[in-house]
Amino acid sequence: MMEEIASNLEVIRGRIRAACLRAARDPSSVELVAVSKTFPFQSIRDALEAAQLIFGESRLQEAEGKIGTLPAQLQWHFIGRVQRNKLRKILPLFQMIHAIDSLKLAVYANDLAKEIGLYPKVFLQVNQAGEASKGGFSETDLESTLEEILGLSHLEVVGLMTIPPACKKPAEAGKWFRALREFRDTLEEKFSVKLPCLSMGMSDDFETAIEEGATHVRVGSAIFGKRSARVEGELG
Ligand SMILES: *Cc1c(COP(=O)(O)O)cnc(C)c1O
Repeated sequence: MMEEIASNLEVIRGRIRAACLRAARDPSSVELVAVSKTFPFQSIRDALEAAQLIFGESRLQEAEGKIGTLPAQLQWHFIGRVQRNKLRKILPLFQMIHAIDSLKLAVYANDLAKEIGLYPKVFLQVNQAGEASKGGFSETDLESTLEEILGLSHLEVVGLMTIPPACKKPAEAGKWFRALREFRDTLEEKFSVKLPCLSMGMSDDFETAIEEGATHVRVGSAIFGKRSARVEGELG
């Protein structure tokens, strides 16, 4: 099991380097977020043993147990849908929050961060295809609220995140990833702001995402193995 996770990580790192090479990008410009949701502590220890330090979780309760028990050198990213009533606990535990999906949530996160004395790094999630099953801003909503979000003194908005519609072939996800990058470029220009990070790409399509500019790829099953179908259905 341990050897398997270590060798999976080696393979993924190699594929990340190769994708960076194809895109003429510096491999250090891509963070691998190992998505450990639903996987046991031992899997995370095995990945740590193989020098993986950044982990992604999507449920607070599960993550709290892991974060409290595993070595403090690990970094945790909250990649799941953020429930308002969990945010007070989420903020101090996670280095980055990938899925701020509304103005209301951003304002609330800022209020809490101010109260606790934190400056959380957050991504704004874009719901590119307007899927009812997924959270996120429509492009129009984000354009009309970004000014206000950028004015929130205690949030560090690092960039955009997407979970594109399921595609039959990984290459088909490329058009969504490209669209997110181009939208980011448009926002940077329009609001004179830097949004350097793009959280996009999962086990099936992280190479395509990197070729389109991903800075954070969220890879779970390709490292840790298959999750159960029930859990899979809750994605996003
Ligand atoms: C579960 C999850 C992932 C990882 O998915 P894999 O297909 O296992 O790589 C990435 N992003 C989000 C938001 C997730 O919920």
